[in-house]
Amino acid sequence: MRLLLVEDECRLIETISEGLSRAGFVVDALDTLREAEQALSGVLYDVVVLDLGLPDGDGLNLLASMRRKHSEMPVLILTARDAVEDRVAGLNGGADDYLVKPFAMSELLARIKALLRRPGAALGTTLTAGSLSFDSIAREAAVAGRRLDLSRQELALLEQLMRRLGRVVPRSVLEEKLYGYANEPNSNPVPVHIHHLRRRLEGAGASVGIHTVRGIGYLLTDEGAH
Ligand code: CA
Repeated sequence: MRLLLVEDECRLIETISEGLSRAGFVVDALDTLREAEQALSGVLYDVVVLDLGLPDGDGLNLLASMRRKHSEMPVLILTARDAVEDRVAGLNGGADDYLVKPFAMSELLARIKALLRRPGAALGTTLTAGSLSFDSIAREAAVAGRRLDLSRQELALLEQLMRRLGRVVPRSVLEEKLYGYANEPNSNPVPVHIHHLRRRLEGAGASVGIHTVRGIGYLLTDEGAH
């Protein structure tokens, strides 16, 4: 597993690199946004750990540029900014997790491992959630092996929800996924697609549920997992 650490505090770079190397990661540590951006254009990392206060700017800008390029690389923000607005800004910006400094190495490691266990992490092509499966190459979803009849937009939304199974996906992230389909006949707003998706999943007897998190977004959970 190859990990990109974007961090400018020397002591932290040492501690984190050492801890993660011991856990079996190959760590590239870079201390500026510019270098990180260069590295990201050439290397497919399994996970990125991103500080926000960096010498040449805000880590959120790097995150935004990654998501604009449709990079699905999992990003964990590691920062001293602990206000709720900061967390929301990070998650809205497409971060997969957010850890506030100071932190315990064991917690950072546990969270990174959780990101890597997610469906679709480390470049998996078949995502699963209970009886629901999604083939991200064929662009098909199925429940217990029976194919679901979904539009391309619904498939795009379902893929995002499955890639972040058990985590809230901000509505803005889902809206962004639909931009590419804006000129197609089926260009409904996100809630309409979600409504349709729910009905299809229920109708097919899927073990998953799509929950609305008011003011933030949507969350897919595997109800059969408990
Ligand atoms: Ca910093």
